[in-house]
This record gives sequence, C-alpha cells and structure tokens, in this order.
Amino acid sequence: MERLSEKKYDSGISFYIPLALIAAFLIGCLSVSLIEVRENMRSVSSYGVVSDSELTKYEKAVRKSQIYDQDGLRFRMVSASDLGLDTKSVTQSQPADENNASSASEATTENENPGGGLRLPMEHYVNFVPEKKDHLAYLTFDDGPSENTEAILDILDYYNVKATFFVIYHKDMEEQYKAIVNAGHTIALHSYSHEYKSVYAGEAAFFDEMNRISDFIYEQTGIRTKLMRFPGGSSNTISKKYCKGIMTVLKKSVTERGYVYQDWNVDSCDAVKSNTPPEKLLSNVRNSIGDKKTVVVLMHDSGKKTATTVQSLPEIIELFYEKGYSMDKMDMNTEQIHHSW
Ligand code: ZN
Repeated sequence: MERLSEKKYDSGISFYIPLALIAAFLIGCLSVSLIEVRENMRSVSSYGVVSDSELTKYEKAVRKSQIYDQDGLRFRMVSASDLGLDTKSVTQSQPADENNASSASEATTENENPGGGLRLPMEHYVNFVPEKKDHLAYLTFDDGPSENTEAILDILDYYNVKATFFVIYHKDMEEQYKAIVNAGHTIALHSYSHEYKSVYAGEAAFFDEMNRISDFIYEQTGIRTKLMRFPGGSSNTISKKYCKGIMTVLKKSVTERGYVYQDWNVDSCDAVKSNTPPEKLLSNVRNSIGDKKTVVVLMHDSGKKTATTVQSLPEIIELFYEKGYSMDKMDMNTEQIHHSW
C-alpha cells in the first residue's frame, strides 16, 4: 500500500508542470463552455428539452466535484476526466512552445491545482451544497401532470433536487405520472377532478374523489399513498359554497383515516393569473421566505397557463441554494405545514 501511494505521489509531481499548463490552457475555453451550458439550460428549460450530452457530462462532473474556500473565495473542483477531457490528446495537440508557455503561466497562477482537476470560481456554478442543513424547502407542484411536467423533471434533475407532485387525473398523461415516480419524486393526492363542486359536495363525495385518484396513481405507478393536499388548501373558502362547514369536518376526518395533508407557506402565485412573468414568480417566492426554517412552496404544473412556472424554476431553486436551504421531497413524516387562517 505504502509503495503504491509513493509511486502515485511521485508521478503526480513529475506531471505537475504539464498538468498545470494543460489546466491553464483549458481553463479559458472550458469556463466559457460551462457558462454556455448553463445559459443553454435556462433557454431550453421552457421547451423541456435538455438532452445535450455535454450537459449530462457537466451535470455529472459538478455533482462529483468538491467545494473549497481559498483566499476568501469559494471554488468548485471539477475533475477534468469527469468532464470527459482527454488530457493526453490535449498535450499532444498543444506543444508547450514559448508563447503558449508564457500566456499559460500567467493563467496558471490563478487556476492551477495539484489534484489534476480544474479549479473554477464558484460564481459560475450553483451551490449544490447547502450550508444551513436545518433549513429545508419543499418544492410542490399541484394540478398536474401536464405538458410542463417533463421540463420540470429535467430542471429538478439538473439541480439534483427532489420535489413533491400533488396530482389530479389527466387523460393521456399516463407516462408523466410514471416519470415523476421514476425520477424519484413524491407523488401525492390532490383529488380526481379538482372540481370544487364535486370535491366539496360532502364528506362521502370528497373521499370518493380521493379514492379514485389514489387508485389511478396506484394503477399507473404502483404507489399507494395517503399524502394529500386539499384542492384550494385547507383554508379555502370556496368549499362553503357547496357544503357549509365541510373543511372543519374534512380536516378531522382525513386525519382519522390516516391521511397526512400539507398546505404551503410560500406561494409563487403562479395560478392567480395565467402566465405571470417568471421574474414576478421569483420575487413572490423571495418575498415570502422570511426567516422560515421549513418552507413549502406552492407551484403548479398545470399546463399552458403556468408555462412561466417552468421558466422561473431554475431561479427559484438557485434562490434556495443561495439562501442555504436544502430541498427535499415530502413523505408521511414530513413536518406538516397547515394554514391556520
Ligand atoms: Zn390545486
């Protein structure tokens, strides 16, 4: 063992200078291309197409990378081989002549690293490692799935975030229910029809709606869940119109029947009006986070009317990372956020 590690160390030293030069040469074009990848991600996110092989490579490399601090700056160490860079072929094609060497050595001072990876400034990246682990954000998407779901799943996957989908029945969306579960997110109940008139006609009608969506989810995904969200939330007043006092009855009876229900404490307000500009959705979220330790964000993947939700999602995720939140999916044991009004 000792010998092996010595050998490794020696070869690391002898290759240190060429490696540093290679790193310096690559750093310019690489950092630009990575920024481009991220910009592409933003621009394609609204179409739900994130299949670029370079993006996948980048994503994998970033996930395996490590963050460290130096001279008051935060860096991310990305392995060259994880990025698919063949350092041998780069060496051959870029002989270290006088000119190259001098321009490279300048850059080397800033960018070299002895680990054989590439050290890149954090500002080019999302901070995938949350600092305040006791601050948790739950991203939730209601009323789907829809044609937006695929794009949302791509973005969540890109940022390595798990979320919760409170679904209703949609015709011809079978694949999307499966995709949610296959991607490792939580699928949960939000009624079958979402028609207030039907959902809140009475206690029996409500549980009929819940049973129907539960059976449908089970048929599509094999998941049987009792995690739910009331259409309109537990504080909705619209149900009164169809059955006075129904929410008081339902809140008690769902709990007695073993359901767990979740409201939200941060509303993106993406369903208030059709296609609210993404900047507005972001500021709605930003302005209501406050000092909450547990955040449950309400968003919708309900189709054309909430297409801007997809556009704002990368920024919303980055906002939580910047604020030091972890993001996770819900389960039956998640702290319950209930409206008290
Ligand atoms: Zn809803």
